Amino acid sequence: MPAAEDLHHLIELQKKDSGLDMLRARLKAIPAELENLQDGLDEERGALDAHREAQKKLALSRKDLELELRECEEGTKKHQSELNQVKANDAFKALLTEIEEGKKHAGELETGILAAMEGLDASAAEEKKLAAEFAAFEKSFQTRAAALASEKQGLESALQSGQEERNAFAAGLDQSLVSKYEHIRKQRGTAVCAVRDQGGNFACSGCNMSLRPQAVVAAKKKDAITQCDSCQRILFVPEAK
Ligand SMILES: [Zn+2]
Repeated sequence: MPAAEDLHHLIELQKKDSGLDMLRARLKAIPAELENLQDGLDEERGALDAHREAQKKLALSRKDLELELRECEEGTKKHQSELNQVKANDAFKALLTEIEEGKKHAGELETGILAAMEGLDASAAEEKKLAAEFAAFEKSFQTRAAALASEKQGLESALQSGQEERNAFAAGLDQSLVSKYEHIRKQRGTAVCAVRDQGGNFACSGCNMSLRPQAVVAAKKKDAITQCDSCQRILFVPEAK
């Protein structure tokens, strides 16, 4: 088989391999993308849960205040009924002081209960907003996750059929040439690269090193496979446009 045709086949093989590499790279990026999405969802859920937890605490503290208020009022009532039973002036005065303090404390508790109720109203409105935001976020998460899952499936099947087609193509080529190609590709990432014409100075576009004029002449002649002296990549001269 003439070298020109071999070279043409290697370029074709490299195109197929580059295409497969792109599929693999995209496939590899999908799990991290999914993980990021999941992290975002967890964060949103965490914020909603934290809000609900704070709301529960606020409701509990309101209940505590109400209980305390009842006890305080009962205490005051008890002291008021005791007023009729005490004879000593000191004891009477002490009871009056207790009643006064009880009423004052009850007033403070009522203020606290009102504040807690207002806080609960605001918190409930905020909870509704956060829950709606979370529901929207979760829905878009599910849409995106489903799209990624189907993309993954498509990539896997394209990769499999592409790999089979590539292997069948490679099997029809000169096997020593294919091994040389694969060896260079493994080391350099790309095995075949163009000779770059920099105004009469020729360089390897793979490693950017200057090429010997003889190497350029050989690559142009296409009688044999020519490799770069520096990086060993297989060279081809692009068709003039
Ligand atoms: Zn090179």
